[in-house]
Amino acid sequence: MATINTNFHKLAGSYLFAEIAKRTKQFAENNPSATVMRLGIGNTTEPLPSSIIKGLSLGVQKLASVATYSGYGDEQGDARLRLALADFYKNRGITVLEQEIFISDGAKPELPNIQQIFGSNNVIAVQDPVYPVYVDSNVIAGRTGVYTNGRYKKIVYMPCTQKNGFVPMPPKEHADLIYLCSPNNPTGAVATKKQLKAFVDFAIKHKSVLIFDAAYSEFISDKTLPRSIYEIPGAQKCAIEINSFSKMAGFTGVRLGWTVIPLELVIEKTEKGEVNKLWNRRQTTMFNGASNIVQEGGLAVLSKEGQRECKKIITYYMENAKIIKKALEKLGLTVFGGENAPYIWIKTPKNMSSWEFFDKLLNETHVVGTPGSGFGPGGEGYFRLSAFGHRENIEKAVQSIQKNLKI
Ligand code: PLP
Repeated sequence: MATINTNFHKLAGSYLFAEIAKRTKQFAENNPSATVMRLGIGNTTEPLPSSIIKGLSLGVQKLASVATYSGYGDEQGDARLRLALADFYKNRGITVLEQEIFISDGAKPELPNIQQIFGSNNVIAVQDPVYPVYVDSNVIAGRTGVYTNGRYKKIVYMPCTQKNGFVPMPPKEHADLIYLCSPNNPTGAVATKKQLKAFVDFAIKHKSVLIFDAAYSEFISDKTLPRSIYEIPGAQKCAIEINSFSKMAGFTGVRLGWTVIPLELVIEKTEKGEVNKLWNRRQTTMFNGASNIVQEGGLAVLSKEGQRECKKIITYYMENAKIIKKALEKLGLTVFGGENAPYIWIKTPKNMSSWEFFDKLLNETHVVGTPGSGFGPGGEGYFRLSAFGHRENIEKAVQSIQKNLKI
């Protein structure tokens, strides 16, 4: 008799965005004349620039003739794209070899997939609040205990609080796999080099692995802040970096990303290069490579013109962030993030719970945001707004908040 993976039963509650959709639908049904404005989800909205459309079109055209047609490509990704990414790092003074780069179809699938090369007994550590994928995928994989009082047993939670600027110190206890996200979703905080060095030192001492999610690296404008974990000496020995074209190039629907497994990375009972080989084995067995059309688009993203055009769009989103942040501060709210990350993290007024503030914001201003508690117990009392959106919609939402929110 077939049985199910009962770890799914351990998952707490419904997916955050399903609950938001439910409450928003209810509000819209009860208030048919209201226009609901969404500043909740981190989805890109602006069209792709011309150089990238050209790249994607080239990918399509190549399929139209015998001379340029390609079928299955390398599971590791198009060699030209891997080289272009090695150059992308080189331009930042970081050495990453082509062999260390694996092209993916986005960061979200990689985050659970990468677990397959690690033992099921590894203890994971996560920031709290956190992008829910790290936690839920490990629950499904059976790496955690049951959910009680808002937390899973066997997970090490690293609190991100106002006091530590939403960047935690390494845990006091041992952890084998440590997920770090910087710039952070949901808090918008960015770890400094010093803060990341503490994690690299911890990982080397404990023989742990850092899984560094750099999906928002291109939103950093402060030149002193690290955009890659490999800016920290020693990180090649202990860190895997997962990155994506989604937010840096508007590829949320196109789907493309990359993962770096350094040859230097060693874990228990492995030699240099072995973890990289394990991942290669995993990929060649379970992945047939990212779409060739999309990889051609990825090459265009990394071209000089592509980078210039992508930066313009990122600046546009960050201008949205500025508009939102300024307006909220003017209302007297305490607001974080939004400077080197597209998320604005609000302390709810009058000690309201995150969901209470969600309902208040929706009812009074018709704006939908994301309750911080949906990202973990440490997010309670906070609320996330996203800077992704068309300017006119952002401005309308901000005006409504300024006019109608009763604080
Ligand atoms: N990592 C973080 C922290 C994210 O916030 C997101 C998406 O919102 C992703 C990864 C997903 O990236 P991708 O679109 O490449 O799957």
